[in-house]
Amino acid sequence: MGNYFLGMKDGSRKIAWCTSVGPAELLRSFGFEVHFPENHGALLGTSRTAGELIPESTKIGYSDDMCSYLTADIGSYLKKQTPLSEHYGLPGPPKPDLIVYSTNQCREVQDWFTWFGRKLGVPVAGIHPPRHLDEVSPEVIQDVATQYKKLVPACEKASGHKFDIDKFRETLRLSKEATELWKKVLWTAKASPAPLSFFDGTIHMGPIVVLRGTQIAKDYYGGLLAELETNVKNGAGFLEKEQCRLYWDGMPIWGKLRSLSELFIQNKTAVVASTYCNSWVFDAFDEGNPFESSAQAYTEIFINRSEKAKQAKLVELVKDFNIDGIIFHDAKTCANNSNNRFGMPQRITETTGIPCLVIEGDLCDLRFYSEGQSMTKIETFIEQIESTKVPA
Ligand code: SF4
Repeated sequence: MGNYFLGMKDGSRKIAWCTSVGPAELLRSFGFEVHFPENHGALLGTSRTAGELIPESTKIGYSDDMCSYLTADIGSYLKKQTPLSEHYGLPGPPKPDLIVYSTNQCREVQDWFTWFGRKLGVPVAGIHPPRHLDEVSPEVIQDVATQYKKLVPACEKASGHKFDIDKFRETLRLSKEATELWKKVLWTAKASPAPLSFFDGTIHMGPIVVLRGTQIAKDYYGGLLAELETNVKNGAGFLEKEQCRLYWDGMPIWGKLRSLSELFIQNKTAVVASTYCNSWVFDAFDEGNPFESSAQAYTEIFINRSEKAKQAKLVELVKDFNIDGIIFHDAKTCANNSNNRFGMPQRITETTGIPCLVIEGDLCDLRFYSEGQSMTKIETFIEQIESTKVPA
């Protein structure tokens, strides 16, 4: 990850900004290095600096209730303050030559990216897939694939390179191989004791977000998978014995990863699966059909599905990972990634008998998170689950 950031330092490569589940492979095929502002938002959350930066965005008219990746990232730009300076000697995120977003995840990214486009005088291009789908039909895939193809002239102009379908195929192949390995990494947590927790996943996911489409990401997950598979074979988990296995739905609370991870470990509870880490599993990639398969992979993502499709997916994962309970994180500045708001926890409990807990918090803005209250709720939830378990 350090090399990734430092590689953008000298300004020798053209830079594209891209949303986290945007068309990264297409951009890389033009030779762009790709920067992901959401990754920077997560850094601002994890470093707990977002709180000083969000008010800068509020001053220019962004609501406090608005995506705190957006408000922290724009605040970072306005205040000229970023952990990239302290850790990598960078003045800030790399200056873009092209900014590309997809609203497959939310409309917030459109506002966020166009703000930077105006501020920096850089061209902005967007993809607008149909949202909240039950099924991803062939018509939808054709629509989105056409939008992908329409990005090509803007990419050619900003990169100075002609589109090369073979490079696109090669980048997509590398991305596909990395995402397959990432899925296998996450799926090792089906074992009990699990070798990897959700909190480990939030760190190990770095390369699949920012370096997919490169050999580096593929090699990273190859090495990680081999290590985790060895641990599974040896019965070595991050807990010696799991008393309870949970699923985490929604965003991480980036500034509280350590305290939450320690809380679960103290309670001999393994958080083994999550909607968030799974969001970079793209089963549909096919280098033989790069535009259509990219359109399918990036349109069928969890966040872009209907309540019905999301519920079916969650129920499937509860079964596959042998889950005892689900924690729904209601992230106050991201309705898009908070799946508790339309009765999903109640419906899942009715369908599966699995208890659910909702905790209020946020991805970056810790004013929305009450540590004491959340810890008490989580400990009580775990006690309740354990009290209903039949002793082995
Ligand atoms: S999905 Fe949520 S956290 Fe991510 S960019 Fe959109 S509003 Fe922000």
